[in-house]
Amino acid sequence: MSWSDDRVALLKRLWGEGKTAAEIAKELGGVTRNAVIGKAHRLKLSSRVSPIQQNKKKVRSNDSAPAAPRRPAKKVPIFKGKEVKMIDLTDKMCRWPNGDPQTEEFSFCGCQKMEGLPYCETHAQIAYQITSKARELNAKDFQSDAGSPDDLEIKTVSNG
Ligand SMILES: [Zn+2]
Repeated sequence: MSWSDDRVALLKRLWGEGKTAAEIAKELGGVTRNAVIGKAHRLKLSSRVSPIQQNKKKVRSNDSAPAAPRRPAKKVPIFKGKEVKMIDLTDKMCRWPNGDPQTEEFSFCGCQKMEGLPYCETHAQIAYQITSKARELNAKDFQSDAGSPDDLEIKTVSNG
């Protein structure tokens, strides 16, 4: 049996359609599966990839794409201020608590507080971030139109 141009063309077409060698052999007639594979090899038809390999290739190409580096979660800086004991705390001092009130190490920031706020500038910012988050969570949890509780509001207006 010989490979006429027609048969080669058919082989190429079926091969390109992704038919198996056995299917192509059946279609052509008179050739074995091995003969089809051998001919395809001699014709330098691109070696076909199984769906699994194709998937792998896809994953590869995705992997090679530059992945955005994960940024570490932003930590709230630990700022303890002057670590003033409660007994030394005055009403001009930041009342940001440090540590566990049950322990002796417990202290307050003690830095000069901002006008109208119980905290110094640093702690006011931290407090504001926390309350912003709390308000977000609050809104998500309740989804009511009652508005946000007043105690979560911190006014940052300071006219000196
Ligand atoms: Zn403070």
